[in-house]
Amino acid sequence: MEPPRGRGWIENANLRVPATVRSGRCERRLTEEPQQTLRTLLETVILPIHHDRWGGSDAWVACVDFQRQLGSHGWTAPGWPVEIGGLGLSIEQQVACEGVYFDLGAPRRVSVYGVNNVGPTIAAHGTPAQKRHLQAIVDVDEVWCQGFSEPDAGSDLASLRTRADRMDDGFTINGQKIWTSIGLNATHCLLLARTDPEAPKHQGISAFLVPLDLPGITRRPIRQINGEEEFAELFFDDVKVPATSVLGPIDRGWQVTMTTLGYERAGVLSISGQLAIEAETTVRDLARRGELGGPRLDRAMRIFVRAQLLRTSGERALSAEAGTPGPLSTVIKLAWSSLATDVAEFLVDTRGFEVVAGADPTVSERFLRSRALTIAGGTTEVLKNLVAERVLGLPKDPTR
Ligand SMILES: Cc1cc2nc3c(=O)[nH]c(=O)nc-3n(C[C@H](O)[C@H](O)[C@H](O)COP(=O)(O)OP(=O)(O)OC[C@H]3O[C@@H](n4cnc5c(N)ncnc54)[C@H](O)[C@@H]3O)c2cc1C
Repeated sequence: MEPPRGRGWIENANLRVPATVRSGRCERRLTEEPQQTLRTLLETVILPIHHDRWGGSDAWVACVDFQRQLGSHGWTAPGWPVEIGGLGLSIEQQVACEGVYFDLGAPRRVSVYGVNNVGPTIAAHGTPAQKRHLQAIVDVDEVWCQGFSEPDAGSDLASLRTRADRMDDGFTINGQKIWTSIGLNATHCLLLARTDPEAPKHQGISAFLVPLDLPGITRRPIRQINGEEEFAELFFDDVKVPATSVLGPIDRGWQVTMTTLGYERAGVLSISGQLAIEAETTVRDLARRGELGGPRLDRAMRIFVRAQLLRTSGERALSAEAGTPGPLSTVIKLAWSSLATDVAEFLVDTRGFEVVAGADPTVSERFLRSRALTIAGGTTEVLKNLVAERVLGLPKDPTR
């Protein structure tokens, strides 16, 4: 099922926000290009304070503090409507702002899953009471993660086995999630669990809004090849949640999930423009240093041209889908992750031993991270199936 189409998620969401959510933020209007406002704010206020407090630390507390500083100036969710604490920026403006964070080497923003994926899903499917979480996301009182994948249910998400059994006044959750980004530190989780074990596998699943400090929840870090612990395994042992924590209709969590995954892929639109700039800069730098002879020149030119195509397709997708995920977002996600991998490989090949010896950690880090881009938000193979079936109308994958 495709996520809802329309002019933007605020329209799709048919958002009726509680009065408290609307308070105080409606008057915030930008008087200049938003990327300029953001650059000035970061350069003159937020980053100097941040560096004084935290130096170059990328510890969770430091990143939360950075996010709160952004939030206090209205910049947690710039793409959200003004009525619910955003700045109402268009995707084009958000793309330009992403470039500013990149240029200034800003710390990571911990609210990214809440803002880009979970928030729009709550807006689309939540009750008025559940929509209060939107304000908490904007204020960085809640930091959300996504508990979808399980050890034997990644691409085949509908095979998930975490169960939520009905009790008198709610549900009891038992099971395990894996690869939960920021799962070690997030305060809340959008969780998928099976509520009807007898139903066909795409049915009988429900989505839950779960605070991660409930009794029975254990989190374990997963250490990556680069030494970081970006992911967690989450274990649920007889975790009790009220019936009001179900997002959307009971047993219809698959539709809710499709909304979230659609927004996850669409989020790539706002960073694909950045990748195009990076790819072009990489090629230009190498040319300037006279390091682009022979077959390397040919490879560099291919990357350069693909970067231009990515940018153009991204712009087309932006105007065609106007901020709401559709098939073009899936195509861009494919093109973006493949280009990012090729740029990283090209850099490693060009720098050779320098990278292996660790002389340029940013390149080796980029190389290692680029692998994840072809997996997160749907693997390349699975997205190719999706494009084949839903966009090109080819026959269905017989294994599914
Ligand atoms: C950076 C990153 C962040 C992530 N964050 C989260 C998160 O916050 N929350 C969360 O729930 N999950 C998260 N994930 C997990 C991610 O969603 C899964 O890794 C992904 O869906 C793939 O599932 P899997 O790892 O079980 O691999 P599998 O599904 O087991 O796939 C293994 C291989 O088989 C291929 N394959 C599988 N099915 C088919 C098919 N039908 N046709 C052809 N090939 C197929 C895949 O392409 C892949 O190469 C994250 C992953 C990464 C890399």
